Amino acid sequence: MRKLRAAVVMLLCVCIALPLAGCGQEKFEKQIYAMNTTMTLTAYGKNAETGLSGAVSLINSLDAMLDPENEGSMVNDMNNANGEGTVVNNHVVTMLKTAQTVYTQSGGALNPAIYPVVKAWGFVDCNYRIPSDDELTELLQNIDFSKVKITSFTETGSYLVTMPAGMQISFGAVAKGYTASQVIATLRAAGVTSAIISLGGNVQTLGAKPDGSNWAVAIQDPNDTGSYIGILTVGETAVVTSGGYNRYFDGEDGVRYEHIIDPDTGKPVNNGLKSVTVVCDDGTMADALSTALYVMGEKAALNYYSTYGGFEMILVTDDGRVVITNGLYEAFESYGSSYSYEYAS
Ligand code: ADP
Ligand code: MG
Repeated sequence: MRKLRAAVVMLLCVCIALPLAGCGQEKFEKQIYAMNTTMTLTAYGKNAETGLSGAVSLINSLDAMLDPENEGSMVNDMNNANGEGTVVNNHVVTMLKTAQTVYTQSGGALNPAIYPVVKAWGFVDCNYRIPSDDELTELLQNIDFSKVKITSFTETGSYLVTMPAGMQISFGAVAKGYTASQVIATLRAAGVTSAIISLGGNVQTLGAKPDGSNWAVAIQDPNDTGSYIGILTVGETAVVTSGGYNRYFDGEDGVRYEHIIDPDTGKPVNNGLKSVTVVCDDGTMADALSTALYVMGEKAALNYYSTYGGFEMILVTDDGRVVITNGLYEAFESYGSSYSYEYAS
């Protein structure tokens, strides 16, 4: 009994000593720049510091591995294989498989093989230019992503990927979502039970807040990036936003050209949407879908939602509407008065 009383007193002392940290759930934060974006990782509790160091190493190694412009990286090797097979790891295979699923289900709206077109517009090296129609037609000849084949060797646990000669891919539309899910797995493995990370528009959470309540994720206003259109209250999930407003240039012709390309035309998407936010437990899928649905536009995106499901979404349209799928009815709270809000099923 005395032992128990001593333990209670000890526990109370700890709680009083850490009043703001939530009873032993100390907060640790790391900010790094990787994959061309700023990443903020926040984790709580005694294992957080170790977990975060592991997460940072993982991010840096994935960044090096997946950068198509990094000579000798896995993706660079795939792009230079000239029709031969490339041995790849689990990371690449997981992203390829998710991309293949969404490529097929979206009718090619998400297509990693669009990379040479993204490059031609200058979105890779920031030397922005408007490619000619002939140049785009030429580049669109070799983007049939269904020709990418994965062979797995169960005895060795390894994989071989074969792509048509000359095809070049990038995981630009899925890498941050995949990385976010791997960071969460790393934190979990380190014993962390409460964390929230934001990898440039890709938010993913682990568990609940240290006090047991849900996380609040602000959804950026694409017309005023210092503000937001509303708040989502979520448990453990991924919340990923895609939008042309994230990267663009204004051409000498006065037109704004955005970094998400419609694979049907080779030109930046311009179909009535300002942003798409996807809420999905699988971070890689959330990232793949947010890009695909942005390319598809409102009507096709809603169609995709009712056909396949497995996620929720928020669309912001050019004409000032915010369309929220019904599954987020309880979770979403609007903010400000510059949009009209509607729910869709
Ligand atoms: P962000 O990188 O801003 O988070 P996305 O996840 O939507 O946004 O990915 C957009 C990036 O994916 C572009 O910068 C480009 O590298 C690449 N990309 C552009 N259009 C497509 C497309 N239709 N399919 C696949 N990748 C694309
Ligand atoms: Mg994406």
